[in-house]
Amino acid sequence: MCSRNCPLEADVKDGKVVRVRGAVCPRGQANLDLLYHNDRILTPLARAGGRRNGKFMPVGWDEALEGISDRLKHIRAQYGPESVVFFAGYIKEPRPWLKRLAMAFGTPNYMTESSTCYAASSVAARLNFGCEKFGVHDVGPDPLTRTHVLWATNPEHSLIPTVGAIYDRQRTGMKLVVVDCRKTHTASRADLHLQPHPGTDGALALAVLKVLFEGGMYDHEFTGRYIHGLGEIRAHLSGLSLAGLSTSCGVPEDLIISFAGLVFGNSPTKIQTSVASLLHHVNGVQTFRAVSLISAVSGNLDVTGGNLLWPGGVRLKDVTMTERLESLPPRVGADRFPVWAEIYPEAQAMALPGQTISGTPYPIKAFVGIGPNLMMWPDSTRMARALESLDLVVVADYFHTPTTALADYVLPAATHFERTAVVMRDDGHVRLRQAVIEPLGQSRPDWQIIFDLGHHLGLAETFWNGSLKAGIDEWLSPSGTTYEELASHPEGLKLEVPPNSPRKYLRAGFATPSGKVEAYSTILARHGFEPLPVWEPEPCAATPATPGSGTSVTLISGTRQPSYTHSQGRNIARLRSQQPDPLVSINPDDAAELEIQEDSRVEIATEKGSVIMKARVTREVPRGLISAPHGWAESDINRVLDGEVLDPISGFPCFKGQRCTIRLAGNAQQAKQDSI
Ligand code: SF4
Repeated sequence: MCSRNCPLEADVKDGKVVRVRGAVCPRGQANLDLLYHNDRILTPLARAGGRRNGKFMPVGWDEALEGISDRLKHIRAQYGPESVVFFAGYIKEPRPWLKRLAMAFGTPNYMTESSTCYAASSVAARLNFGCEKFGVHDVGPDPLTRTHVLWATNPEHSLIPTVGAIYDRQRTGMKLVVVDCRKTHTASRADLHLQPHPGTDGALALAVLKVLFEGGMYDHEFTGRYIHGLGEIRAHLSGLSLAGLSTSCGVPEDLIISFAGLVFGNSPTKIQTSVASLLHHVNGVQTFRAVSLISAVSGNLDVTGGNLLWPGGVRLKDVTMTERLESLPPRVGADRFPVWAEIYPEAQAMALPGQTISGTPYPIKAFVGIGPNLMMWPDSTRMARALESLDLVVVADYFHTPTTALADYVLPAATHFERTAVVMRDDGHVRLRQAVIEPLGQSRPDWQIIFDLGHHLGLAETFWNGSLKAGIDEWLSPSGTTYEELASHPEGLKLEVPPNSPRKYLRAGFATPSGKVEAYSTILARHGFEPLPVWEPEPCAATPATPGSGTSVTLISGTRQPSYTHSQGRNIARLRSQQPDPLVSINPDDAAELEIQEDSRVEIATEKGSVIMKARVTREVPRGLISAPHGWAESDINRVLDGEVLDPISGFPCFKGQRCTIRLAGNAQQAKQDSI
């Protein structure tokens, strides 16, 4: 149901799933409510009348696929293949097949929800260490970890299956440090909690680096031999004052010094960070670089119990035809985000609405999405306008969403009980998760929708003439296993992966241009960016709020809600009863000044628009900060955000740090005035 891919057991009777065992979170426990929900889309639908009128008519699969492929061919002939976008949302299983379809069709514009999640951390890890992942894989402490740092991540809400191990280790002596601008329940259990202002984690990281270097708390041999730009980063830190950095980030100097002392003195230290939160800032990549350098400087990089660098996973054949990108026109966003384009082989979806509406540098005319949701985009109203302007919008999903409302064709997607997929873990454990029932109604697995569309586009052979088994066999061919072998081992197989041994760099150095950890990034320098992981205040922190519409505060959006995966699940009664409303967290002192009480209806506004949510009055957030969840169609917080406030290196949006206003909403406001 989500990317954790927890193994579940399903009891099936008379072709119906009657019981599921092994679910470890509320969403997993609602598996059957999703599968058998009355609102599932079970036939292909074609739009009847204008967009947004909500009218669709059922059509057969052949009619839908023929109609879609005819229009795609026509658009390709008229505007070029690059005018067609293929987008993979959530879930991630169909990605290799969809990218193959995009490349075979001839468009460079394959993009995914990784344009706002994970990928920027990978860009930062590649800039620093030449490897794909830092701090976001292999989550939870290792047996030898003595200090575990949760930096901008709250596993109690986002990685529920991993939480127990963290607290178990803490009970046996491991120190837990939480860096989070909110005082979450996880933070309240930490041995040390640092609360930087949103968007200032980079200043905090530089402060820690300064204390490490100037206090002699660093690995002299490693830094001397393996850090490129050691002199430059030390000179940069010397020019900064600890007091100034402390003021910028709001973390007292003594806490910064204690933190640095733990990282170095109580090592091995492992930094676990978020795939998103640290990156949802205009200075996100530089911040992530500064945070991960703490590990390198303090002697905790690629050591057991610290941050072992990911050695790579199961050997696979690239079935995505990515090599074609080089000969295709530039991707959406490539001109604006050249570092992203060089490192990450996808178009940057954050640039899509702007290019679609402006038509420059070239027109976009069609969007084919598997599980997309326009609420993923900041300034989501603009993304809706962009979709509305297209000649063709195709969406595959389980349920109707704000995105299907704008589609010309809606295709019924099969759930994880009804589709087969290969599930892989970083440690080489691979399973074939087989469909346990036939797809309900006319729904089809994502892979089949892609293969069928390929067939109608004249690409049947490219898609193994419709055989998933043949496709998986080709994909797995270097790994030493096959579809059949996995099918006969439902528990999964442990395949050979490169050993995750410590100090891998001793053999061949780091896979960066200099062969070292790059505190001074040669790639950033080549593209004209600041090569050191400097910190600058975010421009979005100064965005003016709408005049006269309430009190100005900083908004962080997108904190995870345990009952929901992003925008999914609001229509599932069991989940909705656990979290019935979108709740915006506000500090009691701010609330008192605004006469906002628990459950008051409040309006959150910017010049982009406004949404109504219910207030959750809590000291979890400090004064001047509100925290609002994402994914609520009726209160889509991304509607109020500026979609052009993007990290110039990764293109990631600033979800955490834009300014807004908050006040009692509508009737409540009127009632207050009437009573005066
Ligand atoms: S929804 Fe819950 S049970 Fe299902 S895979 Fe994700 S974490 Fe595991």
